[in-house]
Amino acid sequence: MKKIKICHLYGNLLNTYGDVGNVMAFAHEARKKGYEVETETISIGDRFSSNAYDFVFFGGGQDYEQRIVQSDLLEKKDELEKYIENGGVFLAICGGYQLLGQYYFDAYNKKIKGLNIFDHYTQNQENASRFSGNIKIKDAINGQIYEGFENHGGVTYLSENQKPFATVIEGNGNNGSDKTEGFRYKNTIGTYLHGPLLARNEKLCQELLSIAIGNKSDN
Ligand code: GLN
Repeated sequence: MKKIKICHLYGNLLNTYGDVGNVMAFAHEARKKGYEVETETISIGDRFSSNAYDFVFFGGGQDYEQRIVQSDLLEKKDELEKYIENGGVFLAICGGYQLLGQYYFDAYNKKIKGLNIFDHYTQNQENASRFSGNIKIKDAINGQIYEGFENHGGVTYLSENQKPFATVIEGNGNNGSDKTEGFRYKNTIGTYLHGPLLARNEKLCQELLSIAIGNKSDN
């Protein structure tokens, strides 16, 4: 039977607001299409191999867990970058999204270095405020509407060479001011939408799965 391999990056540490539901939704869609699904959690001390997976999911977490993950993550940088550049399907939510960028400031104003694969950076809000509540966005490429839930102290700014994933219709998104939400590069999406995003937005889930299947040599 044909197989879809999913990597849940730091799934034991970064998994707030039901983010694991993205992995479950993706696996469900793949099984409906007749694929066997294998999910592997890659965490502290594990090797991430750029050619071993069809879908990589990197969820959100609290500052505490993000700090634990950070130094281990830097050791996986080369293989993660290869996976992304090769067009692998990669979804990063909230804390995971922040860690793909240059750096972020946590709630205690401590600067945490990110992977620096992408140029976005994340500052924190004054008086430890948070953006919390429902969010509705419009996909920057195909105009589809997605719904989710955001809860972040970080405010993220994209660099000029980054394209937003979506435009904010309701809620705050990247920073509450420029209406951008997340970023997209090749088949990598970073976004603040918990929810879980793929469980609540079936079309996006199906789109990502069909890219993953198209990437396979034995599809
Ligand atoms: N610690 C980050 C923030 O509050 C990430 C939160 C999350 O992943 N839910 O901005």
